[in-house]
Amino acid sequence: MRAYVGLGANLGDARAAVRAAIEALDRIEGTRVVARSSLWRSAPVDAQGPDFVNAVVALQTRLDAETLLERLQTIEEVQGRQRPYRNAPRTLDLDLLLWGDRVASSPALTLPHPRLQLRRFVLEPLAEIAPDLVLPGLGPLAPWRAAAASQRVERLADG
Ligand code: AMP
Repeated sequence: MRAYVGLGANLGDARAAVRAAIEALDRIEGTRVVARSSLWRSAPVDAQGPDFVNAVVALQTRLDAETLLERLQTIEEVQGRQRPYRNAPRTLDLDLLLWGDRVASSPALTLPHPRLQLRRFVLEPLAEIAPDLVLPGLGPLAPWRAAAASQRVERLADG
């Protein structure tokens, strides 16, 4: 199955956290990272604090969506726990954006990920690696990207 995961970090060395998480995703059993976007910078939405570093990866996976989400949560916990010094900041957010064409709407698993179509920091990296994607229930990316165009995001040159 083809799945897409959104990554975000905004504390500590956020670029390093995102890069390390992509490597961790590639080590999940039955799962390979088959495409990765550039790194992007975005202003926090509904939050204070430093800008986020975001990316989206495509996975080829034999895991079902529930199991894959558990693995993402384990990576968040393990990597978010690594703290170089006492009280060092920690944030790594991994969102299961899409798992094939599956639509789900339970609190534990919502697919497509809630509001992904409204967030430019998801739409732009997703469009880099899957420009022709059709979001289940939501349609192609282009109109959503146009509607989100005023949100400030920036592709990082060395991403
Ligand atoms: P957050 O801390 O904001 O990343 O939210 C994590 C919670 O959202 C967990 O309880 C997940 O079970 C739930 N959740 C529901 N759907 C998804 C999804 N597609 N990807 C990641 N978390 C999800």
